[in-house]
Amino acid sequence: MIDSTVLRVALPVPLPRLFDYLPPADSTGRRAGVQDVGCRIRVPFGNRELVGWVAEVGAPTADGRPDLKQALAWLDEAPLLAGELRESLLWLARYTHAPLGEVFATALPSPLRQGEPLPQAQQSSAWQLSEAGATGIDRLRPGSRPRHLAELLRAGALSEDSLQSQLPGWRATMRSLEQRGLVTRQARPLDELARAAPQSGPELNPEQQAAVAAISASRGFASFLLDGVTGSGKTEVYLHAIAACLERGEQALVLVPEIGLTPQTLARFRNRLGVPVHVLHSGLNDNERARTWAACARGEASVVVGTRSAVFTPLPKAGLLVVDEEHDGSYKQQDGIRYHARDFALVRAKGLDIPVVLGTATPSLESLHNARSGRYGHLRLRQRAGNARPPRVRVLDVRKRPLEAGLSPELRQGIAQALEAGGQVLVFKNRRGYAPILLCHDCGWSAHCHRCDSPMTVHGGGHRLQCHHCGARQSAPLACPDCGGLALQPQGVGTERLEEHLVEAFSQVPVIRIDRGTTQRRDGLAKQLGKLGEAPGILVGTQILAKGHDLPHLTLVAVVGIDEGLFSADFRASERMAQQLIQVAGRAGRADKPGEVWLQTHHPTHPLLTTLIQGGYHAFADSELEQRSAAGFPPFAHLALIRAESQHVEDAHSFLQASKRILQGAGVAVEVQGPLPAPMPRRAGYHRQQLLLSSGERRGLHQLLDIAMPALFALPEARRVRWSLDVDPMDL
Ligand code: ADP
Ligand code: ZN
Ligand code: ZN
Repeated sequence: MIDSTVLRVALPVPLPRLFDYLPPADSTGRRAGVQDVGCRIRVPFGNRELVGWVAEVGAPTADGRPDLKQALAWLDEAPLLAGELRESLLWLARYTHAPLGEVFATALPSPLRQGEPLPQAQQSSAWQLSEAGATGIDRLRPGSRPRHLAELLRAGALSEDSLQSQLPGWRATMRSLEQRGLVTRQARPLDELARAAPQSGPELNPEQQAAVAAISASRGFASFLLDGVTGSGKTEVYLHAIAACLERGEQALVLVPEIGLTPQTLARFRNRLGVPVHVLHSGLNDNERARTWAACARGEASVVVGTRSAVFTPLPKAGLLVVDEEHDGSYKQQDGIRYHARDFALVRAKGLDIPVVLGTATPSLESLHNARSGRYGHLRLRQRAGNARPPRVRVLDVRKRPLEAGLSPELRQGIAQALEAGGQVLVFKNRRGYAPILLCHDCGWSAHCHRCDSPMTVHGGGHRLQCHHCGARQSAPLACPDCGGLALQPQGVGTERLEEHLVEAFSQVPVIRIDRGTTQRRDGLAKQLGKLGEAPGILVGTQILAKGHDLPHLTLVAVVGIDEGLFSADFRASERMAQQLIQVAGRAGRADKPGEVWLQTHHPTHPLLTTLIQGGYHAFADSELEQRSAAGFPPFAHLALIRAESQHVEDAHSFLQASKRILQGAGVAVEVQGPLPAPMPRRAGYHRQQLLLSSGERRGLHQLLDIAMPALFALPEARRVRWSLDVDPMDL
């Protein structure tokens, strides 16, 4: 007999609806019912097969609905997405106005998305330090891979699974340690839940104690902004709150920005907590992700540290969520389902009925506003922990000064002095490559990307060109394509050119460049920093340097070329710049050595700079919040952006025009601006335009989108464009 129950299935297709199917023929006698909601199912769709999720189960139909196709097979015995995680994802689909099936697909590691079974618990063998290894660890070169690996093993044995997630490519290193007799393989599998003895940390100061007490005292949902200056010991606060959570047998999830997830961070967590730390990041392969996801779903993983998408981890025994560096832009997913992991962490904490801690030295204006209006508990750490002192900031006015590779004579002298005194120097420049532009001095031609509205960046000491927007590469022309002249000159300064100059000017010390070009691997940065050791030397780099590593010998941070950020059209540009500046300045004077920050600028009296330097981040934030309030920008207004791109500019334009008519005809008071060209009107060969929706009321905005989105999906113009909706967009 055919089971005539109707299954309403969410499918990963860009259509805002569910799809009805009859249950699959099932020899085990399984009868479809509400218990199947959240189970995966394989269904026919057009001429394809798709994996979907049962979202609802309808009543059996009298006539068997002859129009309905039968699903092919059940993929789960019990729901994969259930309880709080399912509810939170339903919320996310409503909030982003995205198809439920696409939201579910985003939340799952790819093997599970593709219908593979949930991986079973698996015991892999484990490695530990031998006696010789435990005593000989300090003889391994600091920063080297063997040293890293040994540090990871210091607190106890690690399973091969954990090793793989914490240090990809560990096997070769382990083999060399094994040959030297420094490690041994354990014959029996490691019980992953076995506790090692946690190492004790520094004694907390009163502000840290108060923060830990507030977090640990909360029963049920509570949100906190842990607002602590750089080096104030926020991580210590997390560690104590997590330890309390482990004591109660509960799970903790810590989100970190991509560049903050370093082997050192993991080793610190593991050593201090005495339990295995499970890791989720983009460097893992699909099966590793799926295994970790499964371990979390079974409640076996007690501490999970991960980047953006780790916010979708199932946490049946949840006790605490932490979002470190909550202001960081990498938490916002920029394509597909455009979620913000910090905001979604708040939704999950509410659903799980547990506390969530947002930590940072430079709160996003949204979070700061929430803390000030009393929605979040505001925990402040005003002082650096231990003996570290805040750095002194000095502004260098470089107007009319001769610059060499963008550096003024004063700054070069400052660098020389810091090196002579035995310190290390960080030169911060947020521009990768050799130079931002290749210019013909004879006719004014400059190299532009053929597919984007953007100049090509010069790389390779002037020999190569690369587009930082679409990735296009080519060799630099030998002569000007327009006038045939030979006067092609790289204009402006990127990190490569700075490096070239510093190597020449300070040949007696090592100069190490750190940017996305030099640190492909997660542990690449540590390796590079290891080269520097404790001796005087120079680091040159982009914002990658602003976070994640203790640089105790750094005494001078030189900031060059921040002026571009002072005059951007994006209303978030000043916030971003202030955060970057404070974060990079915070690298100086981390330990006992006092630090200085020298800021080189052509705009020494710019109000943003003066407020920031004289009053600090909070003074800046106050004045910025006032301006946002006056101008009607977030957090005082709620925005959504509809983007469209197409090869012919008319297609994007007419889709947005039609969309605007629908939005304005819906009878909801929301301001609609556009169609306007996107900040980069052409990228990778596509013309890009956008509509900006803005409302003082979040509810009004969503009401409008609820009404309008199905109509937008149905527009005939939609077929000729790639379009998307971004609620709470970060880049306008
Ligand atoms: P943050 O996360 O705020 O940047 P960390 O927790 O990493 O700060 O602490 C910065 C440094 O200060 C670390 O080396 C840490 O061990 C040390 N530290 C933190 N709290 C204390 C404390 N109460 N006493 C002494 N040192 C501390
Ligand atoms: Zn020319
Ligand atoms: Zn390009």
